[in-house]
Amino acid sequence: MEIVPYPHPALRFKSQPVREIDAALRKIVDEMFALMYASKGIGLAANQVALPIRLFVLNLSADPQEKDQEQVFINPVLGKRRGTVEGEEGCLSFPGLYGDVKRYADIAVEAFNIQGQPFQQRLTGLAARAVQHESDHLDGVLFIDRMTDGARDPLTLPVLKLEEQFRLDQAAGRWPSDEALRQQWGEPK
Ligand code: ZN
Repeated sequence: MEIVPYPHPALRFKSQPVREIDAALRKIVDEMFALMYASKGIGLAANQVALPIRLFVLNLSADPQEKDQEQVFINPVLGKRRGTVEGEEGCLSFPGLYGDVKRYADIAVEAFNIQGQPFQQRLTGLAARAVQHESDHLDGVLFIDRMTDGARDPLTLPVLKLEEQFRLDQAAGRWPSDEALRQQWGEPK
C-alpha cells in the first residue's frame, strides 16, 4: 500500500460502500494510519491508497502516540451543514501544495467505526474541515476543485508539474496505465 499522487485515477473514483468490517479491513486501516503518520498528515482517504471504498482515517494531532485521537469513518454521510469558513488545506496526494478552501463551518456526520458501531458527531473547526476534505475524496472530489480562484491560480504550475511527473512515471512503468487502473476497479462514474 502506498499513497498515490495526483493525477492517479483512483483520486477521481467515486468509491463504493464498505460491505463488511472484518480483520482484512482492520489491517487496511492500520496500514493507512501508518502511511498517514509517515507523511505527517491528519487524514487519509482510501482513494488515496488506491482502494475504491468509502472509508477514511483521521488523527488531528498527526501524532502516532495520540492513539485516543484516532478516528475511522466508514461509509460516512454528511448531514446538516451551517455557515462557511475559509481556511488553508493541504493534501497528501499533492505534496507541498497548500491553498485556501471554503468549507461549511459546522457539520453533522454519521458513520460506522472500526468496531462496526454507528456514531454521529457534530463538528466545527479543523475537525469539520478535515471530515469535509476526506469525504470529498470518497466522491472523487479534490481540494483544488473547491479552491477559490485566488488560491488555485498560484497552484496552476505546481499542479501541472505533478501531472507531468505522474505521466513520466507511468511511461517508466512506475504506475499502470490509466486504462489498466480503470479496468482494475471498473470505470469511474
Ligand atoms: Zn486530501
